[in-house]
Amino acid sequence: GTLPHENFRCGTVALAGRPNVGKSTLLNALIGYRLSIISPRPQTTRHRILGINTNEAGQILYVDTPGLHRGAKKAMNRSLNRAARSAISDVDLVVQVIEAGRFTDEDEALYAALVEQSSPRLLVINKVDLNKDKTVMLPFVADLVAKHSYDEIHYVSALKEQGLKELEQAILKRLPVQPPMYGEDEVTDRSERFLAAEMVREQLMLRLDQELPYATTVEIEQFNDRPDGIAEIHAIIWVERAGQKAIVIGNGGAQLKAIGTSARRHMERMFERKVFLKLWVKVREGWVDDENMIKKFGYTD
Ligand code: GDP
Ligand code: MG
Repeated sequence: GTLPHENFRCGTVALAGRPNVGKSTLLNALIGYRLSIISPRPQTTRHRILGINTNEAGQILYVDTPGLHRGAKKAMNRSLNRAARSAISDVDLVVQVIEAGRFTDEDEALYAALVEQSSPRLLVINKVDLNKDKTVMLPFVADLVAKHSYDEIHYVSALKEQGLKELEQAILKRLPVQPPMYGEDEVTDRSERFLAAEMVREQLMLRLDQELPYATTVEIEQFNDRPDGIAEIHAIIWVERAGQKAIVIGNGGAQLKAIGTSARRHMERMFERKVFLKLWVKVREGWVDDENMIKKFGYTD
């Protein structure tokens, strides 16, 4: 293709931050598309996902990173940490996302890792909708900038979509002038198959209690576009123990049905066609601590 114009910019931006600060919400708001799954739980994002936003001025390739996790004993956590570290190297710009009024030890550790990278870094203070009190915010920020160096600071609410245009401008002007790497209609580098698994996993995150979501994963066994225009999708929900299987299925199958119905609705909206979704729950003991299983399920960098 031809270069849109001679000042067109294109580059990669890592959204980094500890779990739950709102990186995935921010990504979705910035690209205007519900790409990355969101839940109030940490570890919702397990994969490196590229979110693409193209406008007249340029093309921004956002990388939503899994947060760094403590307790890297389990193969799953180790794999997540590798993915998070590789995501902040090799980008044109890093955006560190924090929560308004809180800068924790984990935020500090991430900052230390960022300082070792040569790429410019912006600080995004998210969730300002929860913290309107200036007498709290001003000293918090004053203290922060006295001890850290960022190229710019932005106040946003990813949820209320506040401050995002200014942030986008700041990001764009730091990207290299070069032609786009993806087509202007492309929104992600991920396949529908991958997104389908994520949409089932999102429902598990939202509907299951306590530790159970962390013992589950989703495998798409079949993704078939039928001649009648319906996408037929078969997914396996893997759990670690028989007792967990019973919980995921629920009384008379009610839980599994609710998971399937919500996931299917999201798929139909994103894939823009009818979906026939079939779910199975299967037991694979100890998959969370098995490197081979983690690889099989795609948790690799
Ligand atoms: P991640 O782990 O950093 O990707 O965080 P998520 O995007 O999954 O968000 C974690 C939680 O914070 C979810 O419950 C979001 O709805 C919530 N959240 C994200 N952004 C905002 C915001 O700007 N304001 C408020 N009030 N909540 C937010
Ligand atoms: Mg996330």
